[in-house]
Amino acid sequence: MAHGIRVLEDSCRGCVNCIKSCPTEAMRVIHGRAHIIEELCIACGECLRNCRHRALQLAEDPWEGIFNNKDTVALMVDPSLCTQFLWPPNTDFLIGPLRDIGLEPISGVNSEAFDLAALAVSRAIESADSKDMPLISTYCPAVVRLVQIRFPELLKHLVPVESPLEFGIDLWRIRTQQKESVVLAASCPARIAMVHDPVGREVSSAEWAVSVARLAKEIRSRGYAKAEIKAPAEGERWVQWGMLGGETLHVASFMNRDLNAIAVSGIRNVFDLLQEVELGLHAEVEFVEARICDTGCIGGIGNAESRFLSQRKIRSQKVRWDKTASEIEVLEKLYRARIWELQRTIEPINRLPLGEEISQAMEKLKEMNAVYAELPHIDCGACGRPSCRAMAEDIIRGRGEVEDCIFKLRKRISGLAEELLLLSRRLVHTVVEDKH
Ligand code: SF4
Ligand code: SF4
Repeated sequence: MAHGIRVLEDSCRGCVNCIKSCPTEAMRVIHGRAHIIEELCIACGECLRNCRHRALQLAEDPWEGIFNNKDTVALMVDPSLCTQFLWPPNTDFLIGPLRDIGLEPISGVNSEAFDLAALAVSRAIESADSKDMPLISTYCPAVVRLVQIRFPELLKHLVPVESPLEFGIDLWRIRTQQKESVVLAASCPARIAMVHDPVGREVSSAEWAVSVARLAKEIRSRGYAKAEIKAPAEGERWVQWGMLGGETLHVASFMNRDLNAIAVSGIRNVFDLLQEVELGLHAEVEFVEARICDTGCIGGIGNAESRFLSQRKIRSQKVRWDKTASEIEVLEKLYRARIWELQRTIEPINRLPLGEEISQAMEKLKEMNAVYAELPHIDCGACGRPSCRAMAEDIIRGRGEVEDCIFKLRKRISGLAEELLLLSRRLVHTVVEDKH
């Protein structure tokens, strides 16, 4: 398992579709089988989307394992779970079906947790230094990992507010004094990775992660039909976070002025925008809401519903953005308790050095450049690496051989064939000489 993705080696046909789709060059196909280099994987799920042979899977926890002889387990609900069934999304509707499948939703804390996250982001924007602008949302864990791996210069732009899906569980534990384990409904591999290998805290507040699609399947298998639905008079603000732009609207609702923000989704767009932020092209922007999945978390590979239908459902919600005086009072108290804060600084993820000592690493780098110079530089992918440079690096790291390159192999074979031909000619002379 690499973060949120599991490789089913027996199903892998070695077609190399996955390596071409990986934005961080974390995927390899070696000896006809896919492998993920964990330190480079951001758990975006692009490889999974592009595998036609179902050889890649979400690394969710096994359904039976999460119950572990218990009848009921607590569940943290992701906004996208609310969009899997109804028009408009109805969080109350989910309670009955979830209880029926043995899960007790703790969605009661979601309103407060997401309100608190939006309030904390708005305060962070108001107090940020202009050189750290724009602040970048940390809600999408895949974006955070992308920044750690590819854009370490932008780490100081990450808003120091944790995902409400994490600190919401802490809040529920404080409120209810419950110590029991919690399952997170995960819309994507990055959320699964957040549980097993969190960023911004030592240990995740959730113990397990199961996909939204799995939950939707269990609920549907109990016969819950769309006919039972009653639309609520008012949608909940936190459900809006499932769709691109929802976080920005929520943050702006806490500021008594317009928020200068950019919201982008989809790996290519996020990549391009981060590059532009790095170049200083958006210094006047205050906030960036970036989501790896197209249309936001409702586009996560862990969902069952069409992202376009989910988008329409969220848009059909009538949301009250203003807060009552008592809501504000509770939020201010929680804000002062700083429960929303990242518990750990987010550090860059450096590629493993080529050698332990600097001199050794420099020597290896020289060797790598020499190997690269000999490769054809066409990045064909036939060797199972995303590029010739990645191939050269794998050779130096002992993860491959020059003959994995089909062009080098062909050259070697024709060299051997020529040598064999020469040898066989000698053999004819020997046989002829022997006859006399
Ligand atoms: S999840 Fe994303 S980063 Fe990780 S191997 Fe797949 S495509 Fe690459
Ligand atoms: S956009 Fe949402 S669903 Fe997609 S990777 Fe980020 S957190 Fe996961």
